[in-house]
Amino acid sequence: MAFRDLVGQKEIKGRLNSMFEGEAAQSFLITGAPGIGKHTFGRELAKALMCDSSNGDGACGKCPSCTYFEAGTHPDYKTFEAAKGKKTIKIEDLRNGLISDIAVNPQISSRKVYLIDADKLADVSQNLLLKSLEEPPRGVAFILLCSDQSKLLDTILSRVTTLQLQPYSSDEVAEILRASGKCDGDEAKIRFCADFSAGIPGKALSLADDEDFASEREQIFDFVMRCPKMSVTDILTDEVEYWNNNSDKTDELLQLMQWTLGDVAMLLASPDKGQLKNADKADEIKRFISDVRGLTLINVSNAVNAVTDFAKGLKVNVSYDAACCSMLLKIHKELAR
Ligand SMILES: [Zn+2]
Repeated sequence: MAFRDLVGQKEIKGRLNSMFEGEAAQSFLITGAPGIGKHTFGRELAKALMCDSSNGDGACGKCPSCTYFEAGTHPDYKTFEAAKGKKTIKIEDLRNGLISDIAVNPQISSRKVYLIDADKLADVSQNLLLKSLEEPPRGVAFILLCSDQSKLLDTILSRVTTLQLQPYSSDEVAEILRASGKCDGDEAKIRFCADFSAGIPGKALSLADDEDFASEREQIFDFVMRCPKMSVTDILTDEVEYWNNNSDKTDELLQLMQWTLGDVAMLLASPDKGQLKNADKADEIKRFISDVRGLTLINVSNAVNAVTDFAKGLKVNVSYDAACCSMLLKIHKELAR
């Protein structure tokens, strides 16, 4: 794989292209939101830094170094992450695996690479790394990965070349999902997960695998479709119970509710399918609109407002139960004509 094979991130790839045409830097920091692909970029950069015949487009993919790297057995590549359940990387691991290893010559490549999860570096570990980052011996490169730069010492930040990953377009996330094979070619699922991820491929990939998410989506969509025929009692018992039981997923549920109501508004305003979030459910939404006589855009917009009011209420510590009842009853009032 070369840099061009990575999806999106045009600006960073451009910078890497020109860097690898000349002398590459030795200390890098790759930043961006959790799930954005820092590790994927970090690996590709590490591979290119160690490759015998890398060029502007990164690693060649064929030399002994690339072959060892792909097999996961490259002796000149070391990664440092916190052990499972631990918040930070053990300082002894850095001392033994990095500080006392740094002067040892690489075995296969002309350079060795240390890839470090810098979100897991305590201040004392950052201080330990400072000198090495400042004057890395020839033949050594560092790649730090970090979601939250504010936790890194300024002295670290001033010694690294920073590559800031940007959120992807929905089409780019869809491309990554397709390539992963996780959705079995189900385009509706690919589009839905890609849109819902808000440009974060890691989120889209985990949503694609998450059966709970699929069932939340059905639950909320189904609620809106059935809402006009539901009784107030149904809402105050079954529906409120569902929300209470899934209160840890409130952000997702609210987003799903807004999307479903948004799709109703979209088809109400113009019957052609346009940019529906639930594109695979267009027929159901159309049937809903024709069944609920007299439904107007104002009703749907009021229902959407009830959703945003709930979100606002939670921020000022209104009781969850009360805010939830109020939202569901308002939506019901608007949809039950
Ligand atoms: Zn190579």
